[in-house]
Amino acid sequence: MHRFFVAPSLFAQPIVVLTGDQAHQVRRVLRMRPGDRAILLDGRGRACEASLIAVDEEGVRFQVVRRWEAAGEPTTRITLFQAALKGERFAWALQKGTEVGVAAFVPLICERNVVDDLAAIEQKRGRWERIIQEAAEQSGRGCLPVLHPPRRFAQAVSCAAAPDAQAGGLRHGDDEVRLILWEGEREARLRDVLSGCNLARGMHIQVFVGPEGGFTESEIALAQSCGVRPVSLGPRILRAETAGVIAAALILYAADDI
Ligand code: SAH
Repeated sequence: MHRFFVAPSLFAQPIVVLTGDQAHQVRRVLRMRPGDRAILLDGRGRACEASLIAVDEEGVRFQVVRRWEAAGEPTTRITLFQAALKGERFAWALQKGTEVGVAAFVPLICERNVVDDLAAIEQKRGRWERIIQEAAEQSGRGCLPVLHPPRRFAQAVSCAAAPDAQAGGLRHGDDEVRLILWEGEREARLRDVLSGCNLARGMHIQVFVGPEGGFTESEIALAQSCGVRPVSLGPRILRAETAGVIAAALILYAADDI
């Protein structure tokens, strides 16, 4: 059954009216007919099965048949702080991260970013949000991953570091772990770091991934001073977009969410 994320205000109605691109997709692309069924989601974990009752120029109308708590969401909430990348690479990271189960994305601007203009990044928001929505519908997500505004690296890692973070501790909050993927890390492996976490109870894991030129030593040092723990993904150098998706998949695998 086709899946559509709709605004929560629409979702709450007994008759859900889709307009614009979604109406076009129902009418022209999917060529759905009255009586056909679809899954509608509010993006916040609620789903319903709905029957198409009318297709006309004003839009398409669905009658809600039954509602339930949406499945498809990992218990481990991953926020991927991914350096903005040139060309289609960042869009690829958004799409694959959504399929894998990332809960939120933060475009980062680091010292070695090729794409480093906040306004230019913000201009891509509309297209990136559409890519996330399509990937979430296609992959059967229960919630719509959030695309946060772009942030500069120092702002994103700096935080009112929790007391234990100064001691290089793992925990930012007591159910939060903050990791920075660094190919220069020679000791800490992702497996070791995750084995120290009680992933079963649903943690929030922040993962920082650098740009095409990688992180600078000073960025790594700043991250560590904020309690963000450098981890290695092994001896091979992954492309930036690959590293974020692989890290998310490994974390969710360790949490039994994959
Ligand atoms: N020049 C390549 C790779 C740059 S590394 C490119 O254009 O993409 C990009 C980021 O991926 C790094 O900053 C780091 O966050 C992550 N990364 C890549 N390989 C890694 C590894 N083996 N261990 C940890 N992080 C890695």
